[in-house]
Amino acid sequence: MARDAGYSEWRDPQKDQFVRALVVEDDKNLNRQLVDALTDAGFAVDSAADGEEGFFLGETEPYDVVVLDIGLPKMDGLSVLEQWRRQDKKMPVILLTARDRWSDKVSGMDAGADDYLAKPFHMEELLARVRAQVRRASGHAKSEIECGTLRLDTKTARVTVDGQPVKLTSHEYRLLAYLLHHNGRVVSRTELVEHLYEQDFDRDSNTIEVFIGRLRKKIPPEMIVTIRGLGYRLSPDGNDA
Ligand code: CA
Repeated sequence: MARDAGYSEWRDPQKDQFVRALVVEDDKNLNRQLVDALTDAGFAVDSAADGEEGFFLGETEPYDVVVLDIGLPKMDGLSVLEQWRRQDKKMPVILLTARDRWSDKVSGMDAGADDYLAKPFHMEELLARVRAQVRRASGHAKSEIECGTLRLDTKTARVTVDGQPVKLTSHEYRLLAYLLHHNGRVVSRTELVEHLYEQDFDRDSNTIEVFIGRLRKKIPPEMIVTIRGLGYRLSPDGNDA
């Protein structure tokens, strides 16, 4: 029953066809879990177990979204992605990285990844990110996110307040982008630590407070509301409502 609901939900109204996803993952179990989860969510899913096959499928089939592991036999995920991009294939690609490989994430973004997810991950989060990419790619979402006078362009990674550019470090940027993406709800410190920072990052959630403090010096400070004992919420005018 969930499947029927999923299919209608993910039928692209403009193309009137199923949204196609490709999974490239050599871990058999994970590959299967990904295929099952995406299929249940209504996607039409193909899968490949090595880089060469994955590359070939992505080169020849019009996928709407790809979930691509980095560590793959025959051809690694980054090379697959780079070659697709060189061929001007623009489908959104979410990279799966090993938790402890911070450098993978950087190389992944450089290679043209739209998002990445560190293993192990919750399938729900993967699905949420896949949906976000599909939405973005089909133009349902703007690349600009706003909150009051604050504006963040996810394509150019540019942040402005009242039209004035704000210079942020990459940690500050990721923190702000995460808060903006989850605008309207309280985001806990633990969630921020888990979603934003690599494993070897100082996981003491007090560090988040430090970054929040720095952000408040760069954007209107009242915009980041501290919800005692719970976390933070963005607010255009500082009202905790
Ligand atoms: Ca692998």
